[in-house]
Amino acid sequence: MTKYKRILLKLSGEALSGDKGTGFDEETVLKVAEQIKHIVDQGAEVEIVIGGGNFWRGRSSQNMDRTKSDQIGVMATVMNALYMAEILRTIGMKAVVQTPFKVGNVTEEFSKDRALEHLSNNTVVFFAGGTGHPYFSTDTAAALRAIETECDIILLAKNIDGVYDSDPKTNKNASKFDTLTLTEVVEKRLQVMDLTASIMCMEQELPLLVFALSEKDSIKNAMQDKINGTFITI
Ligand code: UDP
Repeated sequence: MTKYKRILLKLSGEALSGDKGTGFDEETVLKVAEQIKHIVDQGAEVEIVIGGGNFWRGRSSQNMDRTKSDQIGVMATVMNALYMAEILRTIGMKAVVQTPFKVGNVTEEFSKDRALEHLSNNTVVFFAGGTGHPYFSTDTAAALRAIETECDIILLAKNIDGVYDSDPKTNKNASKFDTLTLTEVVEKRLQVMDLTASIMCMEQELPLLVFALSEKDSIKNAMQDKINGTFITI
């Protein structure tokens, strides 16, 4: 048994690209997939939101219309979810991709009821396409879907092992928080998720666990609260 029953795992787009930094790296994704299989086999219900940074960073574009640029980013998140869902299927798992808009018969349109039904059938549900609107992020989509589908916690897998009081890349004295409250995250503007997402979690009382994806068995350990990350309580 895992400590949490229904979780939303948030991965960055870069988590799919390994050392390459862009696109997909099958070996990297398979390692994550094996851990997801393990926790689903233990009875967890798993939802996944993936960013799009391995293909597109809408916000870094200076000359483009923001809405168009964000739409490209949103489509990148759909490709990422389709890819990872397929990798899960190659190791014998069931997975479905839901989007907030129609993508022909490639994805299913978002529905809380159908998502919960899939979860109860040991199917991993990907929420791709963000919120479906520009000016939002996949962090906000993750918070929204986790709240809507009544998750116990968001597991925020990052390329850093928790939340720090300053950037450890530029400040060697930066210190890591073992625990924080959502109010502290919002008041101190800590770089956990974007502010919209943090405020939603604070208002709806949804805890978060921030940890480094690269640590061995990180997802499995996070599911038992046995990880050296930052636990963000309500
Ligand atoms: N995006 C968007 N609306 C959403 C979610 C995402 O417009 O509801 C865009 C976002 O602006 C970005 C891209 O989709 O360009 C990828 O999302 P994000 O930046 O959150 O992914 P990451 O960079 O963390 O991998």
